[in-house]
Amino acid sequence: MATTQQQLHGSVVKFLSGAPKKMLINGEWVASASGKTFETVNPATGEVIVKVYEADKEDIDRAVKAARAAFEGPWRKFSHYQRQQLLLKLADLIEKNAEEFAQLETLDNGKPIRESMNVDVPATIEHFRYYAGWATKIHGETLPVSAGNFLTYTLREPVGVVGQIIPWNFPLLMAAWKIAAALACGNCVVLKPAEQTPLTALRLAELIMEAGIPAGVVNVCPGFGPTAGAALSGHMDVDKVAFTGEYTTGREIIKASAGNLKRVSLELGGKSPNVIFKDGDLETALKGCIGSVFFNQGQVCCAGTRLFVEKSIYEDFVGKLSDKVKSIKLGHGLNPETQMGPLVSDDQLKRVTSYLEIGKKEGAKAMCGGDRAKESDLQKGYFVQPTVFADVNNKMRVAQEEIFGPVVSAIPFKDVDDAVFQGNETTYGLAAGVWTSDVKKAHRVARSLKAGTVWVNCYNVFDPCTPFGGYKQSGYGREGGIHALELYTQVKSVWINLD
Ligand code: ADP
Repeated sequence: MATTQQQLHGSVVKFLSGAPKKMLINGEWVASASGKTFETVNPATGEVIVKVYEADKEDIDRAVKAARAAFEGPWRKFSHYQRQQLLLKLADLIEKNAEEFAQLETLDNGKPIRESMNVDVPATIEHFRYYAGWATKIHGETLPVSAGNFLTYTLREPVGVVGQIIPWNFPLLMAAWKIAAALACGNCVVLKPAEQTPLTALRLAELIMEAGIPAGVVNVCPGFGPTAGAALSGHMDVDKVAFTGEYTTGREIIKASAGNLKRVSLELGGKSPNVIFKDGDLETALKGCIGSVFFNQGQVCCAGTRLFVEKSIYEDFVGKLSDKVKSIKLGHGLNPETQMGPLVSDDQLKRVTSYLEIGKKEGAKAMCGGDRAKESDLQKGYFVQPTVFADVNNKMRVAQEEIFGPVVSAIPFKDVDDAVFQGNETTYGLAAGVWTSDVKKAHRVARSLKAGTVWVNCYNVFDPCTPFGGYKQSGYGREGGIHALELYTQVKSVWINLD
């Protein structure tokens, strides 16, 4: 920890010194009602970073009450323009503290600093600015009714109090995806960050207050899923839950939401096909495959983990891929040279290594990797070798189940129909990739794959204006773009009798 401390920004050290970290409820920093805390751990070293107060039912209830009071009170009086200005101010504050956010994210999640600095933090800022733009552009319509002499129009109104439950893979960015759209539409929020990575959400909460967003509009309560998360998704005064995480948790959330029929949007897992045709630009495709699987240690819901390669180039392509993957530099995230950091937690390490064993037992051949990292300086952390499995068929568990780690399963295919058939042979439908120089083929495959996003000759490209979400068991609802406004508003029809 000593060396890590030396590398840290003064403001990060200061942030971490206020321990245990309190939660934000009604504009105040408070301990949990129970006084209980939990530890958040640096996945590169296994050492405790700091203790955090653990929200449970009672704290969630307080936060929901605060959000309700803010929603019925001060927040309603803010004009669209004022909401826009607050979101812009928040984006400016994040930008001012970009380096600090990047370090905190890397420390808590393990991801390489080059990724936190160049992806997570700028994308967060962009997201707040994008939705600030929408705050002044949400409007209803006038309707041409034939029922009589009426003026009939719609109002697009906020949903109310929104519970937001986020995962640990992009802790700050997922908070931005959830909070920015909700506030742009005029809602109030109770956010529950993942228990593995609560720190950047808590720092964001500080800046939310500094930006002048009124007390209670955003409440941030770190805690565990079955306690705090369940309390939020089951709360009778929460109007909507937005969730990103595992399929099985999504099912629990739907059940918990039944009490008051709250709205639910779910962004769940994936086992995305990435299809390589022999007529594609194979050099670019190789790089694209590496990015699609190993970015963020493979802990990405849309990772292209089922790699379909046209039969005639299968061996060559997979060989070249594993040669490149072997040279990925593993290390502590704060080291600027690091290309791949540790997995987020010991649990995640156990899960991924168990899948490595399952794959080998099923007959998959590890062309590279296949084990925990062996280097002595990586032993204390949760490092796993980036792995390319060849000789996989689409029925194997490593081809069907979400591993959520740096593991790709390469599967050969015969032709377009076979690629589409196998690509769709999964319960998931979050994303897909296609690599080809044939425009007709690209469109045909893009249309035929059952996935919420299809990338052609690229992968993992994001922009705040594009909808993101799943087909099939990858969930429902779309975040991003104008589509997220649907999640966070409801429509009212108003009839005025003109006779
Ligand atoms: P992962 O296995 O990747 O951690 P989860 O779906 O378990 O994915 O976690 C994503 C988020 O859902 C986290 O914030 C977690 O605390 C929360 N969560 C887990 N279980 C529940 C639950 N039963 N109800 C509500 N939230 C939950």
